[in-house]
Amino acid sequence: MHPFSYIRATDERAAIGEVSATPDANFVAGGSTLIDLMKLNVMQPTHLIDINALPLTKIETLADGSVRIGAMVRNSDMAYNETIRSRYPVLSEALLSGASAQLRNVATLGGNIMQRTRCYYFRDTAMPCNKREPGSGCSAMEGINRIHAILGTSSRCIASHPSDMCVALIALDAVVHVRGPRGERTIPFADFHVLPGDHPEVETVLEHGELITAVTLPPLPFATRSHYLKVRDRASYAFALVSVAAALDVQQGTIRNARLALGGVGTKPWRALDAEKALLGKRAGEAAYHAAAEIALRSAKPHKHNAFKVELAKRSLVRALTTVEAIV
Ligand code: SF4
Repeated sequence: MHPFSYIRATDERAAIGEVSATPDANFVAGGSTLIDLMKLNVMQPTHLIDINALPLTKIETLADGSVRIGAMVRNSDMAYNETIRSRYPVLSEALLSGASAQLRNVATLGGNIMQRTRCYYFRDTAMPCNKREPGSGCSAMEGINRIHAILGTSSRCIASHPSDMCVALIALDAVVHVRGPRGERTIPFADFHVLPGDHPEVETVLEHGELITAVTLPPLPFATRSHYLKVRDRASYAFALVSVAAALDVQQGTIRNARLALGGVGTKPWRALDAEKALLGKRAGEAAYHAAAEIALRSAKPHKHNAFKVELAKRSLVRALTTVEAIV
């Protein structure tokens, strides 16, 4: 691990000022991604600003019915919060499917949004990787790519986004609140992460020095009928091969509204908007779900070892929607 300086910030302004002033500075909260990557020499910040003391730990219902979650809320606290459990079960389930209990106790909302890929080559400094070292090449393209993405890939990078929570947040149309040297702004969750394109090293629209302060979840009454399905190699403490966040509004057997997002298959949390549209006005049932699944995966581009994800994702979508339909 490379040497670095460390300070604890007690207010947002000071924390933002510290990071903005140093090109290689990073915020650190739970540290469950950053410290791992520092030990592997994949990330080498020269200055760490510990934001654990910032008062961003509330989950509150606002006057318009939306729910604001502070960026320092721990994954466990969010998952077991009664408002989240009752109004947005898909988010609670996604959180509880991720990592281990110990990690969920330290990992934060803000850190989870900034989580980095599990591509083995990204984490191995002996291997070329365009994301870690732009222009060096992509070892996964012709290497072992079983866990990699099939949607949103580019000729430079096929790494899948690892977060479960983000899949639920994109399905719920969450909004990210950030504060930086130039003030505050809000970013729709769907616009927060970017596709790899020619610059896989750029993963989000966040600028250096900007701090995630909160996420808001808009009111979505039918989200009480929602579910997160995660398919993985072992039953716990594993990243998704495929995951689905689904919510359905079904009235008299007809689908009035739907939310669908996929994890484990996209280079960013993947909203299946065309599949959602295809469900509107259809009779709830397997025929509609199979048709939506075909649409969701029609632009999939598998590589040598991950073609199985196309069929697995389709079946997972059908299963998730069938499960949601049965929720009363
Ligand atoms: Fe690096 Fe992306 Fe290729 Fe993995 S898939 S080796 S992260 S460029």
